[in-house]
Amino acid sequence: MSQIYNFSAGPAMLPIQVLRQMQDELLEYKDIKASIMEISHRSTDFIAMAQKSEQDLRDLMNIPNHYKVLFLQGGASAQFSMVPINLLHGKTKANYAYTGHWSKKAIAEGSRYCDVNICTNSSDNKYTDIDVFENWNIDSDGAYLHYTPNETIAGLEFDYVPEVDMPLVADMSSSILSREVDVSKYGVIYAGAQKNIGIAGLTVVIVREDLMGNVVANQPILFDYTTQAKNDSMYNTPSTYSWYVASRVFEWLKQQGGLSAMAKINKAKAKTLYDVIDGSNFYSNPVALKYRSWMNVPFLLADENLNGLFLEKAAINNLITLKGHRSVGGMRASIYNAMPQKGINELINFMKVFEKENS
Ligand SMILES: *Cc1c(COP(=O)(O)O)cnc(C)c1O
Repeated sequence: MSQIYNFSAGPAMLPIQVLRQMQDELLEYKDIKASIMEISHRSTDFIAMAQKSEQDLRDLMNIPNHYKVLFLQGGASAQFSMVPINLLHGKTKANYAYTGHWSKKAIAEGSRYCDVNICTNSSDNKYTDIDVFENWNIDSDGAYLHYTPNETIAGLEFDYVPEVDMPLVADMSSSILSREVDVSKYGVIYAGAQKNIGIAGLTVVIVREDLMGNVVANQPILFDYTTQAKNDSMYNTPSTYSWYVASRVFEWLKQQGGLSAMAKINKAKAKTLYDVIDGSNFYSNPVALKYRSWMNVPFLLADENLNGLFLEKAAINNLITLKGHRSVGGMRASIYNAMPQKGINELINFMKVFEKENS
């Protein structure tokens, strides 16, 4: 099979080494004479895998002991509900930063549980810029502040962490594990797995212990972080195969040198691509320089009529899934951890040739 570079925003490319390992272990996992999909989540082998995966993630992110790590289902979208259910703690308000499509969805769901105070709003600039933190309008009665460090669709990424006197909640679905973060600054971090952790079906939640145990009444028992933490994320059957894939990705990340090494690689990858976009009049990216995403790089062609041809020729060159989100148009290259520098090099070579041929 020739090497194909898949720029899908999610579910996204997996490291080839992990795919090969999944293949090797598919029919027989270790010496159990079955695949890991076919055994009980209560079995010794599954529990060993689960425990090691948690430890590997703790090592990678340097997660302090007073945080629980949960491996849940329901996607990041279920966390849009679980966050207010678990963190309101009797309060009636919460702060939300509105910087793009996904924060908008979090706000819509949060509004079902409390009065949402939109403390900053990037919709006026079409999600291409973020206001400086001093200008945010934070309600000090809010139970927490929710934000989206990387907005996957517009490619808008924070270069700072908001500092507030209330739990900080981050939807890190499209940026977790791409660089180091100081977990101790957060009350809750959550991420759907299908971008930078593994495959769909798993959501990782990192929650500070003292925030658990005071939930809104009469909510689903599965939506209580305490239920999940007390049962090691096995109150009911977890998403076993997605969890296993995540465990292999965590091992792969450790082999790559951990998150400081990934940060260097990711920063260089993004720079290579933005340099080509900025160096041409043929391609453009509208996001403020400071807030350009390392993971999702949208770009427009000066002549929109060439979009179809660009995608067609890119695919012939083994560069697939580059179509931008319909709300932004143009192209989007999602370049998560699994995308090697070589894939970026192939993309920029293609972009340069396409520009020459069509300008
Ligand atoms: C993809 C994405 C989501 C949605 O994730 P699901 O797992 O499909 O619910 C939420 N937030 C961000 C930032 C995303 O990139």
